[in-house]
Amino acid sequence: MKSILAEAQRGVITPFAWSQTLLAFDFDGTLAPIVDDPPKAAMRASTRGLLARAAALYPCVVISGRALSDVSKRVKGLGLKGVIGNHGVEPWRATKQIHRRVQDWRPLFSQVLQREPGVMIEDKTYSLAIHFRRSRAKKRVRDLVMKVAAELEDVRVIGGIEVVNVVPADAPHKGIALERERARLRCDTAIYVGDDQTDEDVFALDQPGRLLGIRVGRKASSRAEFCLPSQADIDALIRILIGLRAKWTRLGDLIAAVEHAP
Ligand SMILES: [Mg+2]
Repeated sequence: MKSILAEAQRGVITPFAWSQTLLAFDFDGTLAPIVDDPPKAAMRASTRGLLARAAALYPCVVISGRALSDVSKRVKGLGLKGVIGNHGVEPWRATKQIHRRVQDWRPLFSQVLQREPGVMIEDKTYSLAIHFRRSRAKKRVRDLVMKVAAELEDVRVIGGIEVVNVVPADAPHKGIALERERARLRCDTAIYVGDDQTDEDVFALDQPGRLLGIRVGRKASSRAEFCLPSQADIDALIRILIGLRAKWTRLGDLIAAVEHAP
């Protein structure tokens, strides 16, 4: 995997920055550093400032696995054009049926995992996230989750960084969410940055020239073509995008001035 920050890749980013492109970001592990206690996750002040500047130059959206109400308050006031929660379910498919299904699953997982220390089941209304960062038996927890899921219908389990996501199998995923946002905001191309397994649904869209997929952290099995070496590098990427768009605007002004010259 090549780092998108390498000087050699400037030629890859530029055509995106100089087209009708959508900037889309995952939240945890991408815009915000991973923390032991998920409720405490927040962007660095520098990232917030840069994202607000980028949002004035490009349509920007966040596509997160968090519940919509949760992620919305973490990105408030930045001028984003859209916020998508629950891996793509919210807002479009936040239906009673999906809610009911997830509520039926919850006690089944609680029962099996109740004696596992360090495990927390987060009920996100339209999906469950089973966190086990603090567990000493991570493999056993994963196996138990898989066992319960295997008994259920219409369930999709997506592994993550010390979390397992249990989502309705037919619900929209992040790839579908990105396509929808790109169409809604009338963009031709998109840049997507994510760090985890659920972001692979975007990278798997595999649209060379239309989608620039960037995974945070190198991962050989990723479908993303490029990576950011670490989460802290998100600032450098946004800075590059701001610089390129500003240059494009200046060039546009220059061309307009020449065209209108007497
Ligand atoms: Mg993430």
